[in-house]
Amino acid sequence: TTTVYYDDDADRSQIDDETVAVLGYGSQGHAHAQNLADSGVDVVVGLREGSSSRAAAEADGLAVATPAEAAEAADVVSMLVPDTVQPAVFEQIRDGLDAGDTLQFAHGFNIHYNQIQPPADVNVTMVAPKSPGHLVRRNYESGEGTPGLIAVYQDETGTAKEQALAYAHAIGCTRAGVIQTSFREETETDLFGEQAVLCGGVTALIKQGYETLVDAGYSPEMAYFECLNEMKLIVDLMYEGGLGEMWDSVSDTAEYGGLTQGSVVVDEHARENMEQVLEEVQDGTFARNWITENQAGRPSYTQLRHAEKNHEIEEVGARLRDLFAWAEDEDATEDDKQRV
Ligand code: NDP
Ligand code: MG
Ligand code: MG
Repeated sequence: TTTVYYDDDADRSQIDDETVAVLGYGSQGHAHAQNLADSGVDVVVGLREGSSSRAAAEADGLAVATPAEAAEAADVVSMLVPDTVQPAVFEQIRDGLDAGDTLQFAHGFNIHYNQIQPPADVNVTMVAPKSPGHLVRRNYESGEGTPGLIAVYQDETGTAKEQALAYAHAIGCTRAGVIQTSFREETETDLFGEQAVLCGGVTALIKQGYETLVDAGYSPEMAYFECLNEMKLIVDLMYEGGLGEMWDSVSDTAEYGGLTQGSVVVDEHARENMEQVLEEVQDGTFARNWITENQAGRPSYTQLRHAEKNHEIEEVGARLRDLFAWAEDEDATEDDKQRV
């Protein structure tokens, strides 16, 4: 069984006397930097020349330097720029990593797929809150926690895990609970989850359902409510109490229909397709495609984004959201809405 680590399991002396360089001041960066600073840890934010994030970091009272200067000054370097730019930023900070320093990530992609090859004499760890950055910050301020993962890829000092736990404590994760994983497991499950279920699978299911109804002559508005809008209400129930709470809350008719027809729609072919998606995550095919796509200036990505934006359901949804009043999370930023 999995061990869950809480506040009492962390030894804060592992991080309290260290200087942490937080590279990037976006979703995760601003939350880690401010939570660490509020916990009494020395923080320096590393941003490129002319960075649009500099004003925000300075307004929040944090010291800002270039990534190279920040890494030079730091014992722990937290890599919180976008995954696709991390290899280039790593080249700028490599010389600032002294023996026994820690290079830390919030996602394992670049280590697992060898896009960053760290020096052998540093710790390489992961502290990954399982939540968008704005919640990591908001929960910390309200005294709540954010669940998270830790992992150790290289343990030079013999205390890499203890230090990762202490960092997780300082950003508020051990208040909620932290589990240990590996870079491989975190990377592969994260990619599979967002592709097959959370982002890719769910949107495909919604669009197929919407198109099935509209093609059969039903109104787009009805199709939108049925296939997209109600998704949140169903997912909220599952989030609170698992599948059981959802089944308990819907009508017997919905439960019987769902239990009999769900696996007709998402059948063994879907399962085989999921296994194919997982295989391409595991054998590096997806990573290679994504890296090549970026090197080429993102041609298919741009095209796919455009097509998704122009799907009829988006136009119908925008109109309905203007016409009807329903609760909005006023604290969510545009950035948070884009992230998993
Ligand atoms: P963001 O996209 O929010 O990072 C933006 C920050 O990176 C900005 O401060 C930006 O500064 C800086 N930046 C962008 N490009 C460069 C560059 N070329 N050189 C230097 N700085 C640059 O990142 P996230 O917080 O989303 O992701 C950070 C890490 O956290 C990733 O590994 C991600 O997988 C992981 N993660 C993210 C989660 C999330 O919810 N977002 C959840 C869990 C993990 P500028 O203003 O100069 O552009
Ligand atoms: Mg250093
Ligand atoms: Mg992800």
